[in-house]
Amino acid sequence: MHEKKITNKEVSRRNFLDRRSFIKSAAGIGMAAGMSGAGVTTWAEQPLQKRKKAVLKLSCQEWLVPGKTTLERAAKLDKWGALGLELKGDELPKRVKEVKEAIKGTNLKVSAICGGYSGVLISQQRSEREKAVKGIKDILTATGELGSTGLIIVPAFNEGFLPSSHSMSSNYPNLNNKQGRKVLVDLLAELGEYAVKCGTRVMMEPLNRKEAFFLRLLADAAAICRDVNHPGAAMMGDFYHMNIEETSDMGAFLSAGGYMHHVHLASAARNLPGQDERSFVDGFRGLKMIGYQDYCSMECGIKGNPDVEIPKSFRFLEKQWEQATVHFVE
Ligand code: MG
Repeated sequence: MHEKKITNKEVSRRNFLDRRSFIKSAAGIGMAAGMSGAGVTTWAEQPLQKRKKAVLKLSCQEWLVPGKTTLERAAKLDKWGALGLELKGDELPKRVKEVKEAIKGTNLKVSAICGGYSGVLISQQRSEREKAVKGIKDILTATGELGSTGLIIVPAFNEGFLPSSHSMSSNYPNLNNKQGRKVLVDLLAELGEYAVKCGTRVMMEPLNRKEAFFLRLLADAAAICRDVNHPGAAMMGDFYHMNIEETSDMGAFLSAGGYMHHVHLASAARNLPGQDERSFVDGFRGLKMIGYQDYCSMECGIKGNPDVEIPKSFRFLEKQWEQATVHFVE
């Protein structure tokens, strides 16, 4: 069959219409504001000076805070000046009411949801991939109900490496990098679509090589987001892993750009920020340059009394944020 030749102008027009229909579908379910960074072309086209002013919204994983109940932990974090509470995905569907009540009347919102599903997205075994997709979808409904930024996912841990949850790994080998990436792009399109319907997103987390060989650099995660090209498929960065894998914190965040929707905070030895020499200034400079609007959340060990050390670390981070000056060139 003879195909009509498409001009460059026509290609641009179709791309524009595609982007517009994405924005329209997101707006239809009230997601337009939250998903503004999803279309990288739109985001990248903004001059640096015109991007939203970045904000430091501190958050903490709930299990780091001493307390018998979520209510007690939330009250402490609120008092210490946090704005976000990060939760585990395990059991989340059963906890929606309890969490809503715990943060009611505080300045806290649910930042991210961390893993908690079984199966492996890029396993050689189809049943493992399907298990991961189902598990992620099960958590996404509650993630959306709680108004969370998104659900953190890891495409695959190294074979034989058991993460603390033990659930996001399996006894089957993973696909190789090329096959795994292809499968992941397809699955993220499906998961992203489901996430947007729930009012949230999925966020890939690059790890260091001791934990995962498949996805280690923020730029690689951003390239996958670009190829998936869906507002529900996004990514995050973790200062601990970045310290091992990235040559520049600022460069890594600039590469991630509008796809960045969560940050994990930890020192070089994976303790609270400020408990060793790790500086956050260069990375915070990058976050300021991309106009970052989401949470920076503690995921680390703690040396000393958490009730004393966590608020101390928050104050340290606020100072580092202040020190991260950015001078835009006209
Ligand atoms: Mg992390």
